[in-house]
Amino acid sequence: MLRIDLISDTVTKPDAPMLEAMFNAEVGDDVFSEDPTINRLQEMAADMFGMEAALFCPSGTMTNQIAIAVHTSRLDEVLCHEYSHIYQYETGGYAYNSGVGIKLLPGANGILDVETVAAAINPTHDWLAHSRLLVLENTSNKGGGSFYTLEQIKGFTQLCKEKNMGLHLDGARLFNALVETGEDTREYGKAFDSISICLSKGLGAPVGSLLIGNTEFIRKARRLRKAMGGGMRQAGYLAAAGIYALEHNIKRLKLDNDRAKELGQVLQTLNYVKSVRPVKTNILIFDLNDGLMAADYLEKLSDAGINAAPFGPSTIRFVTHLGITDEMIQRTKEILINLQD
Ligand SMILES: *Cc1c(COP(=O)(O)O)cnc(C)c1O
Repeated sequence: MLRIDLISDTVTKPDAPMLEAMFNAEVGDDVFSEDPTINRLQEMAADMFGMEAALFCPSGTMTNQIAIAVHTSRLDEVLCHEYSHIYQYETGGYAYNSGVGIKLLPGANGILDVETVAAAINPTHDWLAHSRLLVLENTSNKGGGSFYTLEQIKGFTQLCKEKNMGLHLDGARLFNALVETGEDTREYGKAFDSISICLSKGLGAPVGSLLIGNTEFIRKARRLRKAMGGGMRQAGYLAAAGIYALEHNIKRLKLDNDRAKELGQVLQTLNYVKSVRPVKTNILIFDLNDGLMAADYLEKLSDAGINAAPFGPSTIRFVTHLGITDEMIQRTKEILINLQD
């Protein structure tokens, strides 16, 4: 049976040319900054965003956690959307690693507006946490792949400057947004103090994320990476996959986005679907009719060959990625339609 894995874009595996690039990588000891392939990947990323420096890390959780730690001190607070990955899926690491609090803000589909953030910034009093950092997530994972445009982001940049706050971008899936908007990575480099991107999601690398910022920021980040146990040795084999991903796998993300939209249109017509959230990129979230349970539906999907994730008691998430073929999309549509009574 054809297995179709729509659980996440983290399930992607390197293809033959990526493996070839990894196999041929020139490596060295990166704790001494002597891995030429990692150095090349970091320079490439910094250049791409028009920023000074970058740091290769094992995961996007680590790049986010390091960014929070560099931007804040104990007794500070981080502001973010209530759906944020840094709050939802990083084990409360902001408190553990940085000793900071978090202020969760509302906004439709995981997207904040400037007024909400401005109103949430604490005035400076001895008895209040210092609102020190704003984290935006683009695209928003739990928000269903929604995204900010640069035009929207400019308002946050301005606000953070005025309030002397840092602005970090959790850009795990930033390129899924950029293939829609056509915006320039260098404009993102100007808008944020630090940026995290994942190589191991839709870009298809097996491991790795990049933290990008100015020289001083990355110098501090490098020390924290070591403290967290993320100083790797001949990890250039992994960085080679990252270079390959940035060079070859960005443009094709549009296909993932289009396929998610295509599946969304089919779901909209089905009698067991209550609503489909707006599909903006490669994440598709939909609600089943009242009384239907996600667990039961997922079992039926699985029996038919589709893996997907629950996103609430009667909510389902599909994520498209480079491991999905045209044939799989056709088959998925058939299965979804056949599950109607
Ligand atoms: C996947 C993801 C991360 C990082 O996750 P890792 O699995 O630790 O690499 C960070 N932010 C968002 C929005 C994500 O989707």
